[in-house]
Amino acid sequence: MRAVIMDAPREIRVGDWQRPQPGPGEVLVAVSAAGICAGDMYFYLGKNPYAQYPQICGHEIAGTVEQVGSNAEGLEPGTPVVVEPFLGCGTCYPCRIGKSNCCANLQIIGVHKPGGYAEYVTAPASHIHKVPEGLSLSFASFAEPVAIGVQACRRGEVAAGEYVLILGCGPIGLALIEVAKARGAHVVATDVLPARLEMAAQLGAEVLRADKDLLPNVLVQTNGEGAPVVIEATGNPQVMEQTVELVAAGGRIVIVGLVKQGTQVTFPGLDFTRKEMTVLGSRASVNCFPESLQLLASGAITYPRVATEFSLWDAPQVFSDLAANPSLIHKGVLVR
Ligand SMILES: [Zn+2]
Ligand SMILES: [Zn+2]
Repeated sequence: MRAVIMDAPREIRVGDWQRPQPGPGEVLVAVSAAGICAGDMYFYLGKNPYAQYPQICGHEIAGTVEQVGSNAEGLEPGTPVVVEPFLGCGTCYPCRIGKSNCCANLQIIGVHKPGGYAEYVTAPASHIHKVPEGLSLSFASFAEPVAIGVQACRRGEVAAGEYVLILGCGPIGLALIEVAKARGAHVVATDVLPARLEMAAQLGAEVLRADKDLLPNVLVQTNGEGAPVVIEATGNPQVMEQTVELVAAGGRIVIVGLVKQGTQVTFPGLDFTRKEMTVLGSRASVNCFPESLQLLASGAITYPRVATEFSLWDAPQVFSDLAANPSLIHKGVLVR
């Protein structure tokens, strides 16, 4: 089959790859759309410590069922589906308690196994979700990043009417804004980049510039209390440290952004008890795809409209362009 193959850091080409066969319990999906995520860029740039080349990236995958393996009933060829890319081992502690997103032996389709930048991809039937009627496959490929927003809002127990401060308005920040808004939260978003703030405002967030006045501005908006919920989506250690002063006493901090391996983040120790704050990590998603697809189908999630579509077979050029200028587009989707 035709595939976009990453041979080594910054070496990417369209070439031939053996077409996968669906094993027992597996489904072969003909890919229609696959999003470009920061993780795919890291793989391309050689910054993913788990990267093994050659590989086919792409973990935000939508397509149609092509072929069903044995013991994988209930899915007819031609059915529009999305692929949930995180495969837990099912036996380790996090898997046993329902947190397969933190599996000790996690395998990700598009990182550890061939992904969606190809004509076909296989996945376990348990990780295939039907696309609701009326939702395009290009939009459906956003099920994965939107699920990250669903997971973070579940972790933070974001509730209707609550003031939620979202730090960072990149693609995940935008998903967070819309998922939190769908829950009825009062969403305030910050970033340093004016273009990103503009986008956040278009999605209905109140926006604050991430500058030295951020804390006083948040305090003014919350009667001096601070934000009941702070969601960190920048991956910047200084921003992460700032969550402690931005959060209200008794509030929740949800950390979604990834810092580089080995980076320390320091919190004033007394605030853990003084503020009785809850600090929650949020990693990818688990059991969030159905809700994510519903949100997309209902129209609650609109930011996929600002994504730029490229032909899958132009991926080599697209990756080199995005590496040279990361802020070229809000979000990219490869389609065929
Ligand atoms: Zn992703
Ligand atoms: Zn596991």
